[in-house]
Amino acid sequence: MMIIMHNNATPAQVENVIKHVKDAGLAVHLSQGVEATIIGAVGETHNIATEIFEILDGVDIVKRITQPYKLASRQFQPLNTQFTIRKTIFGGEDVGVIAGPCSVESRSQIIETAIAVKEAGAIALRGGVFKPRTSPYAFQGMGEEGLKYMAEAREITGLPLVVEIMSQTQLEMMLDYVDVFQIGARNMQNFNLLRSIGETTTAVLLKRGLSATIEELLMSAEYILSGGNKNVILCERGIRTYENSTRNTTDINAVPVLKSHTHLPVFLDPSHSTGLADYVTSIARAAIAAGADGLIIEVHPDPSNAVSDGKQSLKPEKFAKMVKEVGQIAQILGRNLATIQ
Ligand code: PEP
Ligand code: MN
Repeated sequence: MMIIMHNNATPAQVENVIKHVKDAGLAVHLSQGVEATIIGAVGETHNIATEIFEILDGVDIVKRITQPYKLASRQFQPLNTQFTIRKTIFGGEDVGVIAGPCSVESRSQIIETAIAVKEAGAIALRGGVFKPRTSPYAFQGMGEEGLKYMAEAREITGLPLVVEIMSQTQLEMMLDYVDVFQIGARNMQNFNLLRSIGETTTAVLLKRGLSATIEELLMSAEYILSGGNKNVILCERGIRTYENSTRNTTDINAVPVLKSHTHLPVFLDPSHSTGLADYVTSIARAAIAAGADGLIIEVHPDPSNAVSDGKQSLKPEKFAKMVKEVGQIAQILGRNLATIQ
């Protein structure tokens, strides 16, 4: 439920409404805008009459949020979410590109890649140090050593770090290094992990599960938002279909659907959605044309020797060309490529 206060409501009236919301057993999510104060009353609201709030002093309108996700919905927050991590703005008008290798493999590999992607226009550095591999015998990631190299790369380039967390046991250690937690497709419905991340103030890039619906993705975002962490980016990364000429099928529809249903920034990962470097640029262009707020791209200085996802990784030169092209598409739509100072 959204309780919209009159624009001349007093702080005491707002306080009084908050008290009534809590007394009704609901959680309060306060949004104090320039125009109006909105009190989000979230929980089991279906058997609570709106009248109990409508009669309170200072209340203008009480509206039910019809979607099952509340805090993630555009009904709850019409304006796009935008937030700044170090010097990078996520969401908002500009289009941002996150880039880096699938896995951190060595100090020189991550530093070399970071410098190259920064030069090409990336606004954040990605790199996995705990890898969710299909085979238990495949490379599982460098762990904390990899994070130390990433932190050095951040020192040199100023790029904030986007790193996948696979389990709560990694949380405390990772908090010291990571700017944006990536929650991978395989963990999109790891509700305990989502809750733990929701209790932190570290931003999150939440990937869509391999066979998750858009609504399920938004419900997972709701787990994080309801814990108080508002800095969530959603990422379409391809879904499983019967088509096997590409690794996954890019659900390009997800971009405008998400943009209409939620205020959260929407990114697309054409590296995992296609699985093949030759197709990454085409789908990156399509994503921006469809209205995505950004991209996450795998880049490796020597893809044929990458320990993971080499087939879908772009060489730095090809990545630089892709960034230029998506920048041109963004401009047609009245947007610019985001930059960091
Ligand atoms: C990755 O980003 O390297 C990754 C494993 O992604 P996803 O969870 O989308 O498969
Ligand atoms: Mn990968």
